[in-house]
Amino acid sequence: MMRPSLGAVVVGGGPAGLTAAIALAGAQVPTALIAGRPRPADNRTTALLAGSVTALETLAVWQRCRTQAAPLRVMRIVDDTGRLLRAPEVRFEAAEIGLEAFGYNIENRHLTAAMAAQAREIAALEVIAQDAVGIAISTDTVAITLDDGGTVVARLVVGADGARSRCRKAAGIETEGWSYPQTALTLTLRHSRPHHDISTEFHRASGPFTLVPLPGLRSSLVFVTDPGDAARVEALPAAELAAEIERRAHSLLGKIEAEPERGVFPLKVERARAFGARRIALVGEAAHVIPPIGAQGLNLGLRDAATIAELAAVAHQAGHDPGADELIARYDEMRRADVTSRTLAVDLLNRSLLSDFLPLQGARGLGLTLLQHIGPLRRAAMREGIAPSSAQPRLMRGEAL
Ligand SMILES: Cc1cc2nc3c(=O)[nH]c(=O)nc-3n(C[C@H](O)[C@H](O)[C@H](O)COP(=O)(O)OP(=O)(O)OC[C@H]3O[C@@H](n4cnc5c(N)ncnc54)[C@H](O)[C@@H]3O)c2cc1C
Repeated sequence: MMRPSLGAVVVGGGPAGLTAAIALAGAQVPTALIAGRPRPADNRTTALLAGSVTALETLAVWQRCRTQAAPLRVMRIVDDTGRLLRAPEVRFEAAEIGLEAFGYNIENRHLTAAMAAQAREIAALEVIAQDAVGIAISTDTVAITLDDGGTVVARLVVGADGARSRCRKAAGIETEGWSYPQTALTLTLRHSRPHHDISTEFHRASGPFTLVPLPGLRSSLVFVTDPGDAARVEALPAAELAAEIERRAHSLLGKIEAEPERGVFPLKVERARAFGARRIALVGEAAHVIPPIGAQGLNLGLRDAATIAELAAVAHQAGHDPGADELIARYDEMRRADVTSRTLAVDLLNRSLLSDFLPLQGARGLGLTLLQHIGPLRRAAMREGIAPSSAQPRLMRGEAL
C-alpha cells in the first residue's frame, strides 16, 4: 500500500523515536512512526534528568508514568577501589541547587508504555508496528518500504532505529568509536532497607557499581565490570547472585532479592560522524552510544528528539521543507557540542577508574576532593551534569512546539 506523502517519518519505536514522533505530530507535522516489530523486553531503567522530565511533561507523557518513577534527591560516589590513592566520599544533594530532585528513575518498559499510549492519541500520528526494510532517498523525499511490502514517503526521516541503524547506513554515514574491556550487567533488586531516594555509585577498579532508586523497596543495579566477572555473576543461581550483590553493595540496602530478568551490555562509544545527511536526521543510539555512567545516554537522545522536532515544526509551520539540507546541517551543528562533551566526560571518568597509572588515580581523587569541599564548584558540576549550560531545546524549557 502506498500512503500519501508525509512531513516526517520516524523509524524506531524506542524512547528516542517515540519522543520525536510525539513532538513532531503534536506540533501538527503529519508524521508516521515505524515502530518496528515487538522486540524482547528491556529490563533497564532510565534516570531522567530535570530537562527530560520537563520535556515529557510538556508532551503529556510524564503524567502517565510519574507514579512509576522514583525521585533522585541525593547522589553519592563512594571510592571502593581499595587503592593507595582513594577519593573521599562525595555527596551531591539536589536541594543545594534549589531542586527537589536531580531527576527520576523509571523502568524503560513503563516509560515506553506511557509514550506509546500518548502516541496513539495524537491525530496527526500514524503508528505502524512493522520494520523498515528498505530506504530509498530521492531529491525531494525518502521512501521507506515496510516488511508487509507497503511504502511510506516523507520529506524528513528521523532515524531512531538504535545502534545498528539502517537509516544511518542509508544516509551513508560512518561511525567512529572504541570499546572498553567492560560489560554492564543490569538487574532489578528488591531490598529490605529503604534507599531514601539516594543513588549510590561504588567506584570499583573494574567500573562503577550503581544502585538507583525505584519506587518502594526496589532499586535498579548497573554493575560495570570485566566481561568474565559479568558472565560469572550473571550465571549464578538466584540465591548466590543475591548474596554476591549484597556483599558488593556493602549491605547498604539490607537483604537483597534479584528479579529474574538480567541484561548484559558490552561497553563502547560509537558516534555517527554526522548526525544527519540526505533528509535523514539521526537521534538516540542511532547517533551516539556511550557507557551507562552518569545517566547521560537517553537524556542526550531526548534532547536530539526535541531539537529535530523543533527545527522541523518551525519549517513546516512556515511552509518550508522539513528535510532540507540546511535544516539537517543546522541539526548536526546544534547537537555536536552536547554529545561530544558528555561522551568525553563519561570516557574520562571511566578511564580514571580503570587506569593503574598512579598520577591519573591521584588526579581523580583530587578532582573528587575539590568537588566535596568547594561548594561553588560542586554546584556548577551538578548544574552541568543535569543539563548543558548552552541553550536547551524548547521542550526542555517547558514550551510546546
Ligand atoms: C545498562 C544501561 C543503563 C542505562 N541507563 C541510562 C540512564 O540511567 N539514563 C540515560 O539517560 N540513559 C541510560 N542508558 C542509555 C539508554 O538506555 C539508551 O540511550 C536508550 O535506550 C536508547 O534509546 P533509543 O530509542 O535511541 O534506542 P533503542 O531503545 O535501541 O530503540 C531503537 C528501536 O528501533 C527499533 N528498530 C530497529 N531497527 C528497526 C527497523 N529497521 N524498523 C523499525 N524499527 C526498528 C528497535 O526495535 C527499537 O525499538 C543506559 C544504557 C545502558 C546499556
